[in-house]
Amino acid sequence: MPFTPLGLAPALLPLLLRALHDKGYTEPTPIQSMAVPALLSGRDVLASAQTGSGKTAAFALPLLQRIHDLPSRAGRTTSALILVPTRELAAQVGESLVSFGKYLPQKIKVAVVFGGVSINPQMMHLRGGADVVVATPGRLIDLIDHNALSLAHVKTLVLDEADKLLDMGFADELARIVALLPAKRQNALFSATFAPAIEALAAAMMHEPLRIEIKPAPETVLPITQRAIAVDAAKRTQLLRHLVQTEKWQRVLVFVATKHAAEMVADKLRKADINAEPFHGELSQGKRSQVLMDFKAKAVQVVVATDVAARGLDISALPVVVNYDLPRSATDYTHRIGRTGRAGVSGIAVSFVSAATAAHFRLIEKRHAIKLELEQVPGFEPVEAAPVNGADPQGTGGVKGKRPSKKDKLRAAAKAG
Ligand code: AMP
Repeated sequence: MPFTPLGLAPALLPLLLRALHDKGYTEPTPIQSMAVPALLSGRDVLASAQTGSGKTAAFALPLLQRIHDLPSRAGRTTSALILVPTRELAAQVGESLVSFGKYLPQKIKVAVVFGGVSINPQMMHLRGGADVVVATPGRLIDLIDHNALSLAHVKTLVLDEADKLLDMGFADELARIVALLPAKRQNALFSATFAPAIEALAAAMMHEPLRIEIKPAPETVLPITQRAIAVDAAKRTQLLRHLVQTEKWQRVLVFVATKHAAEMVADKLRKADINAEPFHGELSQGKRSQVLMDFKAKAVQVVVATDVAARGLDISALPVVVNYDLPRSATDYTHRIGRTGRAGVSGIAVSFVSAATAAHFRLIEKRHAIKLELEQVPGFEPVEAAPVNGADPQGTGGVKGKRPSKKDKLRAAAKAG
């Protein structure tokens, strides 16, 4: 189905279509088909949509039309506020809005504001107003406290990745911001899940929202080839290097558990002449933006990231994601591997599984109702008690039919004795 029947105004449609076409969008994704007409009609929308579903355009297109339709835009007032959990997502949403609106007759001014960088340039940018403000909640409140912007004329509020906003502890900030908005406004809330906290938030701030639940068919939940490779923990960096080289992975996002690991793995890869950069929350915003830009521009081949990068990032055509350290939860697994296979582009997600993490990986598999064949890569066969699929009825991560670990031997000796 083309974009045409979604209810976009005939005067704007060709201009928006041209911009969408530039980005390679030819037909709307399901969330766009459902949310765009509802938002254009003025309804509140409460949507659960997977990462990569196209939710940004789903709220951005109606927003652009609404702003375009405003009777007077002299002395720009902020008529749309988009709240997002992370700096990266803020930048990405801002870029999307600008690119969707680039052919509109009147330029839409988008201000993107987030913490971790100096507030002054953001205050300067907000002088003279902005049509749309894309913000992380903490910095928005700072700016309001500095009288740098007013929310008195906001007509549309979008909460993007609302579950993450709550997870990150922004509930109080959200309440404060919502209290500053006009009571009569349109609300759109996008969240990966409809967790009880999201339902409560929606009930508190939305008016009879249209609920949209995009549930991909089970086998298409992730258009991603998932692989699991058994490897000793100590051999993971070498294996990663080996795979990057032999499988000719051009762009890889590697997830690790800590900032330290991100630095260390990136460092070791660099020593092997692989262009790798760490990416974690303690890098300066400038450095993080630079790494992302270089990664997008293919100047960096491997980014080794903590979960900071797991949400919201849209690096199109990212073919490979590696779980060097396994994610803590099944949900994090989804977010991490959702970095690849975006918008139907297939990708590979590889998880390194060691003896110590085998039981945890099985839990992740169970939660996702998947069962991956545990591969071994020649030269990297695990020598620690190697995990084997389904061979662990106790769920301890212990193994049958493989070389026993020291612990296994001790246990066996204790039993025998
Ligand atoms: P989002 O969920 O908004 O972060 O979008 C996920 C990815 O899907 C991005 O790479 C978008 O550029 C892409 N995308 C969004 N809508 C469409 C569409 N209608 N056709 C093709 N790609 C799309």
